[in-house]
Amino acid sequence: MKPEYLKIAGGTVHDPRNGVDGEVRDIWIEGGKIVSPPLDPDARPARTIDARGLVIMPGGVDMHCHIVGPKVDAGRLLSIEQTRTGSPTPRSASQRGGQMGAVPNTFTTGYRYAGLGYTTAFDAAIPPLFARHAHLELEDTPCIDRGFFTLAGNNHYLLNALKANEPARARAFLGWLIDSAKAYAIKVVNPGGVEAWKQGAQGNETDLDRPIDHFGVSPRQIVAAIAQAVDDLGLPHPVHIHANNLGVPGNWTTTLETMRLLEGRRGHLTHIQFHSYGGKDETDRGFRSRVEGLADYVNTHKNITVDVGQVLFDRTVSMTADSAVGQYLARLSGKPWISHDAELESGCGVSVVECRNTSLVNAWQWAAGLEWYLLVNDPWQVAMSTDHPNGGSFLAYPQVIELLMDRDARIRALAATPAAVREGSLLRDLDREYTLQEIAIITRAGPARMLGLEHKGHLGAGADADVAIYTPGPDRRVMFELPRVVIKGGQIIVENGEFRGAPDGETLHATADYDHAIEPSIERWFRDAYSVSLRNYAMRTPVAARRLS
Ligand SMILES: [Zn+2]
Repeated sequence: MKPEYLKIAGGTVHDPRNGVDGEVRDIWIEGGKIVSPPLDPDARPARTIDARGLVIMPGGVDMHCHIVGPKVDAGRLLSIEQTRTGSPTPRSASQRGGQMGAVPNTFTTGYRYAGLGYTTAFDAAIPPLFARHAHLELEDTPCIDRGFFTLAGNNHYLLNALKANEPARARAFLGWLIDSAKAYAIKVVNPGGVEAWKQGAQGNETDLDRPIDHFGVSPRQIVAAIAQAVDDLGLPHPVHIHANNLGVPGNWTTTLETMRLLEGRRGHLTHIQFHSYGGKDETDRGFRSRVEGLADYVNTHKNITVDVGQVLFDRTVSMTADSAVGQYLARLSGKPWISHDAELESGCGVSVVECRNTSLVNAWQWAAGLEWYLLVNDPWQVAMSTDHPNGGSFLAYPQVIELLMDRDARIRALAATPAAVREGSLLRDLDREYTLQEIAIITRAGPARMLGLEHKGHLGAGADADVAIYTPGPDRRVMFELPRVVIKGGQIIVENGEFRGAPDGETLHATADYDHAIEPSIERWFRDAYSVSLRNYAMRTPVAARRLS
């Protein structure tokens, strides 16, 4: 049978992983993959897209968002009044109807990611107990390949293994957890701190070196042990860290200590913006950004990567496994919140938030996020995220791109913030403007590399044929909001602003080679401590999943 090619002809290609920076090239696609141009001079593509004058990038990769699972459902409930805002998706031949608001439903999430040229997204915080629920909703999210990270930083079995000083058992458990939840990576959220809060600690401050009651291990020991275990297991993505003291004034020192304790190991610090504040005491001149010192550390330590968690000025919903933060935000807003105790594994806090450019704290958060993008020298170490929907919707990515590519737009936005931010932020003096190549790194090539996704984020032969084609223009926001063509797995799904089809994506999960001798002890643990049986907990195979080792 003759191969059936799709050819994208004459576009200006940005493929950073393969060293292609704005060169005019043809891209050939066959069987859902990028292929080398055929050697047969008579080979004719079944279809050719004329891309002369257009910009070609790999499909976008969102490495940290919240799109499935019980916390997202709770977020939809809490923001029910928003569901008819922001142009709900109408039902059509190729689309189901769907609600919008800060927390769109599963179908709309898939359509809207694809509509921006994003073809892969990872939910960052699923307790293993809710893996089944998350997998079902991932199956219901069209157009994108997807997966999730599973939570381990406050898991009682793991904390007991660390308490008994049995690192090999802790490592085997994490491997078992990946396998059982069919997860892609291990995430820690306020390690030890959520457990302390569940035991009754007040507030959301955690001392990195204070042992957690009943377990006798400190957050520092938990992070170090998990980072080491994840490296030893050889998982594709390093430990994904939501550090202690999120949002707390002066938390930048905790963040720096967390980076330091990773020395010799890999580690990804997520929504780093929320962890980069000064202002613990009077001498620190109040709440403000302390990004500079942290970015200096990242610039000299290649074992660390970060995503930003950019805050935008909008109404949104905060959802986090960090229950203490959920409670803190609800106290600030005076609005109802939902707290969910995920048994022996995690916590969860969901609350409605509104970020305003007139608020000193919100404006500092916004500025700190942009400082992170502009102060990390190597774009391969910093990924774009809004921690959707926490800092803002993923739909705001084009807005962030505009702020990074256009200094004037940034300065105009800065001018509307309170004087302390306007005059105190480094943004005033940062002239850096991102190039299209750098945007291609922080939105696709970089996150794919951080995740260890060999077949994503690039356009070399063998990559998944996920491609976004944009019409270049001086208004970068418009350019990235409305891709001309989006291709997923070789299928054209968006063309000239219209949906052509909504293919099912695949769920990506990792596999781990762990010591199976641990299993009887896990079986006993479930009999003694869990409300569900092990049989109803472990996933055998999620539907349509692709294993990655
Ligand atoms: Zn998050």
